[in-house]
Amino acid sequence: MTPEITPLVAGNWKMNGLLQSLEELEAVSQGYDKSMQGQLDILVCVPATLIREASQRLNATPVSIGGQDCHFNQNGAHTGDISGEMIADSGGSAVIVGHSERRTDHGESNGLVRKKAEAGIRAGLLTIICIGETEEQRKQGQTLDVLKEQLEGSVPDGVTSSDTVIAYEPVWAIGTGLTPTVHDIAEVHGFIRAYLEGRFGESGSHMRILYGGSVKPGNAVELMAVEHVDGALVGGASLKSEDFLGICQAYSNIA
Ligand code: PEP
Repeated sequence: MTPEITPLVAGNWKMNGLLQSLEELEAVSQGYDKSMQGQLDILVCVPATLIREASQRLNATPVSIGGQDCHFNQNGAHTGDISGEMIADSGGSAVIVGHSERRTDHGESNGLVRKKAEAGIRAGLLTIICIGETEEQRKQGQTLDVLKEQLEGSVPDGVTSSDTVIAYEPVWAIGTGLTPTVHDIAEVHGFIRAYLEGRFGESGSHMRILYGGSVKPGNAVELMAVEHVDGALVGGASLKSEDFLGICQAYSNIA
């Protein structure tokens, strides 16, 4: 963790969840206890179909709601896409851009991710920009080079610690149950921090850097204790309120 930074635990439901699943979110808000107050921010990025209903049900609770992607334009002829403004209009306060599943499934380049990040910020959303190396790139010793290229290409100029969050998600750790060693995570997060400070100065020192990739209640305490890990981006374990709360709890215990 980085002193003076309020950690963020962000869930990513991906293409999961129907109206009934919002019970899990209500259970998260009910399970939020006093020990967590002021210790961390909690966000869940639900499918676009659930943003409005989730925002209404979770209104005035500690759980914020976000989207998982946005188009770079505000509106227009882009069938099937939604804009940052639409997420905000539906009650969302955040958006994920550049998730590895979007980079892979939809061929999203660093340049496109950058435009989407600009759009998220333009819409007033907390914008989580994902970066991460593949297994092959790690084996070839290219991890830091790949991350630098992604940071340079995907993160817009002029971002600040209040509008942007960086999520380091090694592609090979997402949904696989595998995680890097704490030593490897410390190396990468230290590298990202140095990059952010070099490019954004004071704001870069305070920008949250999340770790994502098979975070579970059982490994959360260990992962959160790593220097410059300022929170988690959680996929599978965010679908069950008990697991998600267990991860949030890990942060409260450390803080
Ligand atoms: C993710 O989807 O961003 C993610 C980290 O997934 P999981 O926690 O399931 O590995």
